[in-house]
Amino acid sequence: MSNYNRRDFAKLMMLGGIGYTVFSCADDKKQEKGVTPEKEAVPTMPELLPENIKIYQKADAEYQDLTIRFNKRIQQAPTYIAQCFNTEGVVAAMQFANFKDLKVVVKSGGHSFEGFSSTNDGLVIDLAEMKKMDWNPDHSLTVETGCILKELYNEMLPKQRILPSGSCATVGIAGLTLGGGYGFFSRKYGLTCDSLQEITLVDGKGNIHHESGTSAILKACKGGGNGNFGIVTKMKFRTYQAPKFFQAYRCKAYKLTTSRAKKLLETWFTHSKNLPTTAFAAFVLNGKTLTVLITNYADDNKGVLDMYNALKEISDKATIGSKRPLAKALRTFYGVQHPIYFKNACAGLYKDFAQIEGCIDDVISKVISSRGLIYQVNTLGGNINSSSLEKRSVFPHRSYPYLSELQSYWDKPSQEASRLEAFQEVQDRFYKHGIRAHYRNYPDINFKDFETSYYGKYLPELKKIKQQLDPENRIQHPQSISL
Ligand SMILES: Cc1cc2nc3c(=O)[nH]c(=O)nc-3n(C[C@H](O)[C@H](O)[C@H](O)COP(=O)(O)OP(=O)(O)OC[C@H]3O[C@@H](n4cnc5c(N)ncnc54)[C@H](O)[C@@H]3O)c2cc1C
Repeated sequence: MSNYNRRDFAKLMMLGGIGYTVFSCADDKKQEKGVTPEKEAVPTMPELLPENIKIYQKADAEYQDLTIRFNKRIQQAPTYIAQCFNTEGVVAAMQFANFKDLKVVVKSGGHSFEGFSSTNDGLVIDLAEMKKMDWNPDHSLTVETGCILKELYNEMLPKQRILPSGSCATVGIAGLTLGGGYGFFSRKYGLTCDSLQEITLVDGKGNIHHESGTSAILKACKGGGNGNFGIVTKMKFRTYQAPKFFQAYRCKAYKLTTSRAKKLLETWFTHSKNLPTTAFAAFVLNGKTLTVLITNYADDNKGVLDMYNALKEISDKATIGSKRPLAKALRTFYGVQHPIYFKNACAGLYKDFAQIEGCIDDVISKVISSRGLIYQVNTLGGNINSSSLEKRSVFPHRSYPYLSELQSYWDKPSQEASRLEAFQEVQDRFYKHGIRAHYRNYPDINFKDFETSYYGKYLPELKKIKQQLDPENRIQHPQSISL
């Protein structure tokens, strides 16, 4: 429905009456047992002003479009979708969820690998229309959380500013930052969440929190805030002077055998240790084809050239790109911008090659013998591994300089089962080998012990925040923090 008209409002009030009765019955039972009922605030139907919020149900024309997510593999049909236009709208949506006793998920950019920004029965709070951005005099940028990365880059790059965040155009800044966030500039400037200075958050009861400085809630949102205990509606980021150029180095190798791919991987690990903080590297094994990408944006490129030359020796093809203007160069990494069928997940954070040496033959031989499997290792490290940044966040994996991921993409649903089977076999090999640390923004629904894998030693801290902000566990998805 384009507007929340009077007839619909009356319909909801009637439905809402059921919720009210349930609350009344609960109090009656307490009275029967002689227990004095606590003075709980009974949720009331909020005012749903169309300038703040519109609520849709399955019969509404707009509903289908609002259920679209980046991952076509996971299609869900929520009972209600609340399209919010500002923080007041999100407050109304949370009050609506409390009134109707609905579980809540939140959607910003809709890129969750496992569909955690949708649900089959509750309420989706959709922030995609919230896209205001405001510059502050100190070059920090306050954004509403419906913004996607290309919108941020379009705003920042003409002003010669950057934020260390991801490269894909349509990923949401909210989900990315709340789980950590990394990209080409992270080894120099830290994770995306490390640049987060202030937030506005709506908790499970619909209360608004403004958090900054040493706030425990802000800290929890730096690595542990994805759909766990509150809806973040605004983020203020520190930004940095943009570099003058950006350069990409590539090596390719074809028709790989397991032993040759392993040798290339070992060489990649050996030399990536010496990269300057301005550089980033990725090892991308797609079936039997390898692409190594190294990027840099500073004149100091000794470590980069050493790595490139070592890999060039044992590759089939190698190229050094020209020094390109940043905006132009970044656009070449924007990636696919429409929904696709895929399964991606973290395949572990590692300290070094030795940590995976015992299982990597098995992993590589599975990847090169299966259709459509991609194994990728990316560099973290550099200034991400900072104890002062660690103190202000709950990202537990700073001491791991390598983040790996497994990916598979396909065209038809009929291809899904075999892809998922091969995918899981590789994940099982890493698990058996003791790989347990995983990146929250690369979730896998099949991770055992996912809470400790994602949050490590910060889990108790996060559970305390969950208890404080959402004691009824209204905000939840299949891997949200449990009470
Ligand atoms: C193509 C692609 C490229 C990627 N590239 C990178 C990359 O370069 N670097 C990187 O670090 N990650 C990358 N990622 C992973 C990405 O960081 C996560 O998928 C991220 O969670 C997406 O955020 P979103 O807002 O788009 O997704 P959504 O699906 O909207 O949300 C993702 C999760 O965050 C929660 N959430 C969203 N908004 C809010 C909010 N406002 N308040 C509270 N919780 C919220 C949701 O509940 C959900 O659990 C990539 C993902 C894809 C699909």
